[in-house]
Amino acid sequence: MSLRVAVIGAGPAGIYASDLLIRNEDYDVHVDLFEQMPAPFGLIRYGVAPDHPRIKGIVNSLHRVLDKPELRLLGNIEVGKDITIDELRQYYDAIVISTGAVRDRELLLPGGDASIGAGEFVGFYDGNPRFDRSWNLEAREVAVIGVGNVALDISRVLAKTGDELLVTEIPDNVYESLKNNKAEVVHMFGRRGPAQAKFTPKELRELDESDTIQVLVDPEDIDYDAQSEEVRRADKSVDLVCQVLEQYAIREPDDAPHKIHIHFFEEPVEVLRDGDAIVGLRTERQELDGEGGIRGTGQFTDWPVQQVYHAIGYRSEPVEGVPFDLERNVIPNDGGHVMEGSTFADSLYVTGWIKRGPVGLIGNTKSDAKETTDMLFADAAAGTLNTPTHSDPDAILDLLTERGIEYTTWEGWYELDKAERTLGESCSIHPRERKKIVEWEEMVRHAHA
Ligand code: NAP
Repeated sequence: MSLRVAVIGAGPAGIYASDLLIRNEDYDVHVDLFEQMPAPFGLIRYGVAPDHPRIKGIVNSLHRVLDKPELRLLGNIEVGKDITIDELRQYYDAIVISTGAVRDRELLLPGGDASIGAGEFVGFYDGNPRFDRSWNLEAREVAVIGVGNVALDISRVLAKTGDELLVTEIPDNVYESLKNNKAEVVHMFGRRGPAQAKFTPKELRELDESDTIQVLVDPEDIDYDAQSEEVRRADKSVDLVCQVLEQYAIREPDDAPHKIHIHFFEEPVEVLRDGDAIVGLRTERQELDGEGGIRGTGQFTDWPVQQVYHAIGYRSEPVEGVPFDLERNVIPNDGGHVMEGSTFADSLYVTGWIKRGPVGLIGNTKSDAKETTDMLFADAAAGTLNTPTHSDPDAILDLLTERGIEYTTWEGWYELDKAERTLGESCSIHPRERKKIVEWEEMVRHAHA
């Protein structure tokens, strides 16, 4: 029996789900993978830091999936605007949403609106055309709120020199901005302790690998209560993170020109302003409450920083025509099947960060995809999937063409990829594997070459 499925979002979550769909042995499945950007790969292209080639390398396995003939990439299409979910039901037996989480959670404290969300900066340095193309990097001391892997990424990029990043795929405007970056000191703030930090050990160690950066921790901030010790014993990754932080705490400052200070037990309470200018960040000292939580001590510190970023988590955005839980910022679902109130939505499924929230490494989305596709196949076996009105697989292309949508394809990615590699190899400042093309129209133009 054959099935046609629309997967919306060509990041790792959507590609893993597509792979499981087309590999199924009981059904002959064809997938159309819709993507808003002209290029595929989502978080790998627009979320992973440019100096993380190991993680960017995941793209090779995703590439192999997209090469399969049962999968068709349709980029440069905004589902909800260019085509609605109800319209897609006329062409597909089922729809899987995997649009991820790209927006920043809001920093809710006085002056917090002056703080820049980490995702904005990531969007800038990863050359995402939906984000600002110029960046103010005049601050000598910078605060980064949050002690997760995104905080590590942006602190590392802020502390590295532009030249160190020139071996990567960064576009010219990003290099020019980073080359003139004035930041010398980056302060990261965790409101709880080292055992409650969200870092992973490998990424924390990588923070210290540049010759121009020294990472420091105040020995006073290395503190564990009974609950923290228990967490360390139960979780090897937490224990390794604590060990790395302890190493950072016993060293003397050296002559590295850029310092990253990781502070614990400091809860940001106000971004201090003088008119439009940021003049500091006020934090309140915390202590552990014995249960993994914290309580304020009433002791405040003003840190003289001129720029504040918050890396306190991402959030998903609603998809037009699909239920959305505004409190949890996810699409409500039961095991991946979208819920409308207490009933299952017709043939509509969800996977990845928009299903469970923005936590976990890229590989974790594989188990998500498995749960979701198992649910979809169970519904197919039960005969409860949608029956599309169009049986011709090219009918959807006719509709897109009729609407004047310049959709991009997997063949188009090969063209864009070739153009980016040529730009990288011929780069006069520093030849490298690839230089990213940022402008939307440019991407579409190359994809149609
Ligand atoms: P995260 O891991 O959830 O970390 C968020 C941090 O923000 C936590 O330290 C949290 O502290 C803090 N925070 C939240 N609200 C706060 C507030 N109001 N005031 C002060 N601090 C606050 O989120 P993330 O860093 O965005 O990462 C998202 C996911 O992507 C994670 O699974 C991460 O591992 C993954 N990722 C991986 C890589 C990689 O290189 N492998 C790179 C980037 C991201 P509390 O714990 O106290 O709430």
